[in-house]
Amino acid sequence: MGPSMAQQPHSLYLHIPFCTTKCTYCAFNTYINLETLIPAFVDALCAELRTVARSQLRTPLWSIFFGGGTPSLLTIPQFTQIFATIRENFDVSPDAEITIEANPNDLSYEYLVGLRGVGVNRLSLGMQSAVESELKLFARRHDHTVVKAIWPDIRRAGFDNVSIDLIYGTPYQTLESWRATLGATLALAPEHISLYALGLEDGTPLKDWVEQGRVAAPDDDLAADMYELATDLLDEHGFHQYEISNWSKPGRESRHNLQYWRNWPYIGVGPGAHGFAGGVRYATILAPQRYIAAMQSGADTDYPFPRTPATVDEVEVDPDAEIAETLIMSLRLIEEGISLANFESRFGRPLHAIHGDTITKYTGYGLLEESNGRLHLTRRGRLLSNMIFRELV
Ligand code: SF4
Repeated sequence: MGPSMAQQPHSLYLHIPFCTTKCTYCAFNTYINLETLIPAFVDALCAELRTVARSQLRTPLWSIFFGGGTPSLLTIPQFTQIFATIRENFDVSPDAEITIEANPNDLSYEYLVGLRGVGVNRLSLGMQSAVESELKLFARRHDHTVVKAIWPDIRRAGFDNVSIDLIYGTPYQTLESWRATLGATLALAPEHISLYALGLEDGTPLKDWVEQGRVAAPDDDLAADMYELATDLLDEHGFHQYEISNWSKPGRESRHNLQYWRNWPYIGVGPGAHGFAGGVRYATILAPQRYIAAMQSGADTDYPFPRTPATVDEVEVDPDAEIAETLIMSLRLIEEGISLANFESRFGRPLHAIHGDTITKYTGYGLLEESNGRLHLTRRGRLLSNMIFRELV
């Protein structure tokens, strides 16, 4: 927090909405059997990037993130086309963090070298579990031998900043199998680890199976124990928890993640992306075919930043809403929390003048703590964060 939105560094999120198979828990905006659309999609994505850039973003991009879907389904020439468009149209910080999410079995040494060549400097690997039966339940395309086999090539290709995604709270998962997954992850020695509690999302096979009694329901208490186990184990191995779901080696926090939690601006492009820039929260058209058609027909018109022909659901964020969002998101940052000085310079009012009573109350309960000019949740406060958040909106 600190400078006004127009002066804050911006991030760029690119959504790649294609997958080879659909995982059983997945509710992301992603489609199978549409790979033939990828070339037209890449052209549309580049048109969208040019449209956003024409509306004159004045600050450099300091993080770029390809998420999905499965970005690793794009070829190196397709990434080359996208990066050429980004660099021609935006100012990219020389030290920008540039991440792609990758599925382990899409990777080869040559492909990884190609990614480094186009400027990707961080990999987010969708490992999810090291346990065969859990990966089968998820219908993931890889098993752990694939991850172990590709890992040396990831390093040899020059990736020295790698994040691993894991899922816990899975049906049939035990503390022992979770410990095995964490152990296998630590054996790889990544720089960053994200842990996601399994959510049963509407419309997913996993949710249907649980509701039909065909698969055991996840156990919330056990999931909480898994979180505690991970928190202790990762701490013992030199990872520090900088956000509720994210751990890193010192200095390897994800800049792109921090952008979201600080409620700083990010531009979202690609079908189903979300963005927050120019005081507007927005989304883009979900279906790839409609997205491509919108960009083909409207790309030559000027749109006010950050809108494009693919923008839908835009909402102007008023100052009160921005304050509430900033508090809730920043409190997810374990140590950083909210800087009281930055809050005041961003919003023109001291935080205590707005929420003094709430802060005093929860500090008294030991759920919030103020130190070094920052307000953050205590370990106990993290478990009860929703109660606190309700009073801050
Ligand atoms: S690879 Fe990721 S985006 Fe694709 S179906 Fe699986 S979880 Fe969803």
